Amino acid sequence: MGHNTPSADRTKTLEDNSATFLITDMVPQVPSNNQQTWAGLEDHTRNLAQAGNEVYVIMGSYGVEGAGSDGTKNTIDNGRVTVPSMIWKVIMVIPLGDNYVSRVTENTRVISVNTPNINTVNSSWGGYRTMVDAIEAVNGYDLLTELPDDIEARLESKTEKGPTF
Ligand code: MN
Repeated sequence: MGHNTPSADRTKTLEDNSATFLITDMVPQVPSNNQQTWAGLEDHTRNLAQAGNEVYVIMGSYGVEGAGSDGTKNTIDNGRVTVPSMIWKVIMVIPLGDNYVSRVTENTRVISVNTPNINTVNSSWGGYRTMVDAIEAVNGYDLLTELPDDIEARLESKTEKGPTF
């Protein structure tokens, strides 16, 4: 299991932190994805926030079949919980301020990552970067809709190549 919103990202109050342990914040994520690939991406995200940015994060999962330490599974808990095959995240990095939409430009860093839910996943998230457009295509979601359409289109069609540390 892994958190969607990490516990370490909600430490201001006990109530905020406790909410990250609700089952609605959990995803059946295989150990090496959770403890290596995802942990690295979460650390990177926290570093960006601690460096004085606001970080806007959207995450989700889709598909069926993960391969963890107990082998390949389509579901857990007697079929009641689907094990997703892919886990994704979109991270938009913007300067601090009011009205976040006004702080987003066509040069805003948007890190979009889509990782397989398998124990042989690469421990480094950098190689799993993709376009937001690709994530929208497999999920059927339209993300970042509050942005002006031209900026949304530009940001979603780029694959981010910045530092991964
Ligand atoms: Mn969109």
